[in-house]
Amino acid sequence: ARERLLAQAKKPAITRDGRKVIVRANLELLDEIPLALDFGADGVGLFRTEYLYVTRKTIPNEEELFANYRQVVESLYPNIVTFRTLDLGGDKFAEELDLPEEINPALGLRAIRLCLKNPALFRIQLRAILRACAYGNVRIMFPLVSGIEELREAKKFLQEVFEELRQEGLDIEFPPCGAMIEIPTAVFIADHLAKEVDFFSIGTNDLIQYALAIDRGNEQVAHLYEPLHPGILRMVHYILEAGHRAGIHVAMCGEMAGELLYLPLLVGFGFDELSMNPQSIPAIKDYICALSFEECRSLCEEILQFASAEEVRNHLEAWLEKKG
Ligand code: PEP
Ligand code: MG
Repeated sequence: ARERLLAQAKKPAITRDGRKVIVRANLELLDEIPLALDFGADGVGLFRTEYLYVTRKTIPNEEELFANYRQVVESLYPNIVTFRTLDLGGDKFAEELDLPEEINPALGLRAIRLCLKNPALFRIQLRAILRACAYGNVRIMFPLVSGIEELREAKKFLQEVFEELRQEGLDIEFPPCGAMIEIPTAVFIADHLAKEVDFFSIGTNDLIQYALAIDRGNEQVAHLYEPLHPGILRMVHYILEAGHRAGIHVAMCGEMAGELLYLPLLVGFGFDELSMNPQSIPAIKDYICALSFEECRSLCEEILQFASAEEVRNHLEAWLEKKG
């Protein structure tokens, strides 16, 4: 059965009624690439780039980053690699940056905010990513976008670095550019954000944390962390509507994307892409092939009427039971 699952995972995941869902891997290390390919990843939907910054005393230089990114891009060619720009701060620290301690790090200077405040740090990474574009298929996405100015500012940096590299003679196209949707304000201006990017990727780990005010790493409140909260499902639905109305691709790359229980909802909401731990890919692809998009869509319509996570869960479990 495992052999069959792995063989099928190498093929695209298409529902019984013909809707394709791209299934990609979340990666952080070069070592994980063979595993991702073995498990049938259609590319990388989230490459977390913090590793080289948090595991050592000094900040990596452009050449080191470029060598690393190039290897990722080449090993996955012709598949797409989605580089997320630095998401430091919060619970991830780089010793050399020596940032002041914060009382509320999750609400502090992290991710895109930190990069916009440290242009040199940001530019070095953007240069390395853009140089890697010459070796395969690359997308770039910005984490923790809260508003349009921030997104425009990040894109301006990217544009400047792109022109600088072109002047230096680098022959590349401007890569597709995306915003991670991880903050509730970004959800509700998704229609505006969609005009500025080629794709969205929902980071549910953070989105749920910020929407429910539940620290994602705090054991005391872990039981309240609830992806099926109707408020969360409405946000997810809203992002898809806004993204698709604007004609852009919508992905999910938080942990929620790799859970079988949530899959009928994610398919029904109309995700173009789900990105997850490589280990989850074969079972998720297999299940997508067993689902009907139309049935999942009706399920979503029903589910969106409920007032509590408990009702959502009961209905979802009954539906799963009925479908066998
Ligand atoms: C997320 O927040 O869901 C996400 C994918 O990013 P990270 O877990 O790295 O914050
Ligand atoms: Mg996140």
